[in-house]
Amino acid sequence: YPIERVYDTPVDILTMDDIIRDMSTHFNQQKKMTLASINPQIILMADSNPQVKAFIESASHRFADGIGVVKVSRWTKGQITERIAGIDVMVETLKYANQFHKKIFLYGAKPEVVEKAAAAIQKDYPHLEVAGYIDGYTTQANDEIVAHINQSGADMLFVALGSPKQEEWLNNFMPQLNCTVFQTVGGSLDVLSG
Ligand code: UDP
Repeated sequence: YPIERVYDTPVDILTMDDIIRDMSTHFNQQKKMTLASINPQIILMADSNPQVKAFIESASHRFADGIGVVKVSRWTKGQITERIAGIDVMVETLKYANQFHKKIFLYGAKPEVVEKAAAAIQKDYPHLEVAGYIDGYTTQANDEIVAHINQSGADMLFVALGSPKQEEWLNNFMPQLNCTVFQTVGGSLDVLSG
């Protein structure tokens, strides 16, 4: 996709349809797909946080999540015309998982929130499998978390640790994870938990 740099942070010029279509390609080719939500807060963090910067630079699909990014693009005569909300990407990804019977894993949010989100997702999308979840305040070591996710056989991982934690965590541990789709989802589990 064409890339537009917003204050030096790359954003891909793409649509929701592009994202969902690419999912099949990535599964077929067993290639990792990273859905990175880019908002003004993350653009500022990327400036001083090398981990966040590295995560964004290496992500396959960086979408403009937030009207702020769209406005900056407009002011600088860029090509980003539409906001793609992270929660909408998560919902479309869950629909895809439901259609193709994928296994998903949730990592992050408060214990009662992730538990409720897992139950709500399983109920609303009966053909996907919630293969497991871990809250974002666990005392488990990172290598245990990674092992837990890999043992679950999850195809898709949603990380809800807030920024910059979720970007840093994925930057560090994605290479060891066997999932195909990764998404940073901020507060989306709080929304989906009802
Ligand atoms: N969160 C977490 N562990 C932490 C900090 C935050 O699991 O150490 C979760 C928090 O419970 C919430 C989500 O990350 O579900 C998003 O947090 P926040 O709203 O602070 O971040 P933002 O949406 O602004 O990125």
